[in-house]
Amino acid sequence: MGIATINPATGETVKTFQPLTDEELDRKLDRADRTFKQYRRTMMVQRSKWLRAAADILERDRAKFGELMTLEMGKPLKSAIKEVDKCALVCRYYADNAAEFLADIPVQTDASFSYVSYHPLGAVLAVMPWNFPFWQVFRFAAPALMAGNVGLLKHASNVPQCALAIEEIFTEAGFPSGAFQTLLIGASQVAKVVADDRVCAATLTGSEYAGMSLAECAGKNLKKTVLELGGSDPFIVMGSANLEAAVSTAVTARMLNSGQSCIAAKRFIVHDAIADEFQKRLLAKFQNLTLGDPMSEDTDIGPLATPGIRDELHEQVVACKDKGAKVLIGGELPDRPGNYYPPTIIADIPPGTPAYDQEFFGPVALLFRVESIDDAIELANSVPYGLGASAWTAVEAEQQQFINELEAGAVFINGLVKSDPRLPFGGIKKSGYGRELGVQGIQEFVNIKTIWIGH
Ligand code: NAP
Repeated sequence: MGIATINPATGETVKTFQPLTDEELDRKLDRADRTFKQYRRTMMVQRSKWLRAAADILERDRAKFGELMTLEMGKPLKSAIKEVDKCALVCRYYADNAAEFLADIPVQTDASFSYVSYHPLGAVLAVMPWNFPFWQVFRFAAPALMAGNVGLLKHASNVPQCALAIEEIFTEAGFPSGAFQTLLIGASQVAKVVADDRVCAATLTGSEYAGMSLAECAGKNLKKTVLELGGSDPFIVMGSANLEAAVSTAVTARMLNSGQSCIAAKRFIVHDAIADEFQKRLLAKFQNLTLGDPMSEDTDIGPLATPGIRDELHEQVVACKDKGAKVLIGGELPDRPGNYYPPTIIADIPPGTPAYDQEFFGPVALLFRVESIDDAIELANSVPYGLGASAWTAVEAEQQQFINELEAGAVFINGLVKSDPRLPFGGIKKSGYGRELGVQGIQEFVNIKTIWIGH
């Protein structure tokens, strides 16, 4: 796919871009390298000021940035604007806390004084997905810039205008030119950047395939990576759960971003005791969702980002249906322009279908029934992924069992799995490794330097 803005609601190609030539790319890497040598010496207080200025710009132009996201990848405008606000939040969070997170840590040894100190690494490449075109980038950039690194962004090819807007935000905020640069390049140019000596590390948020490919290249060049990959998060509801709260949250958890979220609840694993009632209420709420123009206030679910994503999702649904699963609602391609897919619920899903080991990246809920907590945990853990998990129960012993035994980077009890600047975010198994956000996030791309001073 070329680098282009294609409106997912209409299929219209709005603007196309030429990828950088080798010479242009080389100049940008050179600039990153030169900028880093100066930028690393800037004071934390100064970096905080620039990052707060970036937050101000985000809030000032929230509608404009929201519309840009909706135009390029189709998320409902109201959630796009909320995404911009969350980016401002993460900027302020690291502006306020980075100094404390990266403060020296004294350690008593045989030295007159010894301590751990955190130093920047250099230029870090961020390969990012289109699904949260601003948030994914800011949650990387805010800590990276506060730590004294410089950022290079290779954004998904369908959100080039978002990518360029983000570079402009950092420039307008006052960061030295070259501290954060967008590289308009295709996926095939990523390996070259990773291998370049002027790039010291890389992070990728995206599919398992892209993650493996980046990690392979980084491994060959001995470079640190953080990978935030796909998920098939379980949403487990036990008999004692507050059913209405669980069902309402289930809808939000599945439909966020028109279903295109890594931490969306994808598999609903419900105890037999309440399964009928859960299914009935979930169906009623799905029937009330509005599919439509993402720019409209009333829309709950917009088009999917690309025709390829919609087609892949539909193939997964058809594969389940062909093996005997029951489609309770949706499951048919609508006859209209744009990449729309209807809210869909699939139940009675036989093993051997994609529901058991693949990620469904769209508004499709997969319903499973279990007889016990052990069965729920076994089913939840049976997928190759381990990103987030939401478990609903009023019983304390069950809560603790979920916390101990669910194989995931995050377990939320009686709540929606969500990212929060204050908490680390990331997965295990094929959902990737490393963490973003929180104190752990800013410590991924730093040199943890041991300092020992003799007598
Ligand atoms: P994708 O196809 O993997 O693309 C993600 C990024 O990787 C894009 O910039 C893409 O560039 C690039 N890319 C693709 N193949 C590559 C390769 N072989 N080498 C280097 N870079 C490559 O994923 P997507 O469809 O945009 O995003 C959906 C996936 O991301 C889902 O699996 C979702 O769960 C996951 N995700 C995970 C998180 C998390 O935090 N764990 C968050 C959001 C999304 P092009 O656009 O140019 O191909």
